[in-house]
Amino acid sequence: MTDVDYCVIGGGFAGLTAALRLKQAGRTVALLEARDRLGGRTFTETRADGSWIDRGGAWIGPGQERIRALMQDYGVPSYKQYTDGEAMMLVEGKQYRYTGTIPWSMSPWVAMNLGAALLDLGHLCKSIPLDAPWTAEQADRWDRITLAHWLNTHVVSKAAHELLETAIAGAYTSAASEVSLLFALYQMASGGGPGFVLGIEDGAQDSRPVGGMGAIYRPMAAELGDAVHLARPVKRIQQDADGVTVFSGKTTVRARRVIVAVPLAIASQIRYEPLLPVDRSFLHQRMPSGAIIKISFIYDEPFWRDDGLSGQSAAPGSPATITIDACTDTGRPGVLCVIVEGPIARRIGQLDPAERRRTILDALADRFGDKARTPADCIEQDWSAERYSGGGMLSHAPTGVLTQFGHTLRTPCGRIHWAGTESSAVMCGWVDGAVRSGERAADEVLEQDMVTASGSPANDRGAHRGNP
Ligand SMILES: Cc1cc2nc3c(=O)[nH]c(=O)nc-3n(C[C@H](O)[C@H](O)[C@H](O)COP(=O)(O)OP(=O)(O)OC[C@H]3O[C@@H](n4cnc5c(N)ncnc54)[C@H](O)[C@@H]3O)c2cc1C
Repeated sequence: MTDVDYCVIGGGFAGLTAALRLKQAGRTVALLEARDRLGGRTFTETRADGSWIDRGGAWIGPGQERIRALMQDYGVPSYKQYTDGEAMMLVEGKQYRYTGTIPWSMSPWVAMNLGAALLDLGHLCKSIPLDAPWTAEQADRWDRITLAHWLNTHVVSKAAHELLETAIAGAYTSAASEVSLLFALYQMASGGGPGFVLGIEDGAQDSRPVGGMGAIYRPMAAELGDAVHLARPVKRIQQDADGVTVFSGKTTVRARRVIVAVPLAIASQIRYEPLLPVDRSFLHQRMPSGAIIKISFIYDEPFWRDDGLSGQSAAPGSPATITIDACTDTGRPGVLCVIVEGPIARRIGQLDPAERRRTILDALADRFGDKARTPADCIEQDWSAERYSGGGMLSHAPTGVLTQFGHTLRTPCGRIHWAGTESSAVMCGWVDGAVRSGERAADEVLEQDMVTASGSPANDRGAHRGNP
């Protein structure tokens, strides 16, 4: 039995941040991570030539000050995403090249539809209270309809519809018919609006840390030292009037409080004693992750740059739905990243690896020429096949969930506190949101214990509201 002040479950950015903040506040902490690695939905692989590949979360953008603060603490510089050259859209069998955010080279009608829809969405996002999106004036109405319904009724041009569906539903790595409009608006608003979510320059894909996300999470882990326990999947959390006991195989941790920093659907696999309050338990059951496969093709050179292309392309319905230049700061080797999301990711995830690779390379060759057919290497990560992620990039809420259960996203259940990017009101779904959630959860437990120490009754509402 390890006896500490606090236990943190999950070694993604949320859990690492929470544990570090507690340690820096002079408390003892045990961080239990199920996998034999840290980083969670970020995973940086260093290659023999010293270059690196981010198999999961990779990009950062303006407004993401908390991940930036960590980068500053650990001396990790950033570099700008390569955007020189033309991007590509492939819609209804035609290829359009363009620069900037809106593909004006498509027909004015399509561009107008795209622009108008983005303006509309931006306007709706402004009315969402980030701390409590379920209290938005139109919350009930927007939580009854899906993103697909909104697109169907607001975007007339078929091409614009396909592009928006790919881009916006793609962010939830699900079909637009699976995602509540209220959730989509809230998540976009938490990042500052659709321009941020979909944008490269000054958007969510503006820059990357040199060395990848691992350059940040590795020194965090080093600072935590022997507080980190790998290969410790937590199976059970028992709470009583004095503390919590956390069970993970042969390791048992006794602590005053526990922070659970695992994806929502995965949190439902832990056994809670007593049972969690019904609304929190139902939240776990109702916020699934989507499907995403990230494939990095490695070439000697980023040959597309010489051809005047940025490497960015979007092709709704294609097995290589989105591509983006993912070279390191040196630009060598050439790394072209293919991101496949939602229903297509589930479909191609079932192909045998050789067939999947051939299908995707055929699509790349159509866009970037024959040189694309012969990568020197390929690194593939199917996040849906990861037991402790259950998909990616983030959990989303289907219709009815935010208005019914959203209020439990951050509410502690007795001595159990919740972190994870999905619990962040700002940058929900991004690494920065994970960091913010870890900071908030750590502050919360410290504050609760200060209240207890000062003699006032601790605010442990919900501790025993569950059924025995
Ligand atoms: C392919 C992909 C691309 C992405 N791109 C970007 C991007 O470019 N920029 C960006 O900002 N964000 C991106 N994201 C999202 C970003 O990666 C996540 O928002 C962020 O990493 C989530 O951090 P977290 O700590 O909340 O959760 P996680 O990273 O999921 O951490 C949870 C941890 O809990 C562990 N765990 C689970 N169950 C248990 C258990 N029972 N016991 C112990 N441990 C357990 C897991 O192993 C994991 O380490 C991307 C995600 C994916 C998958």
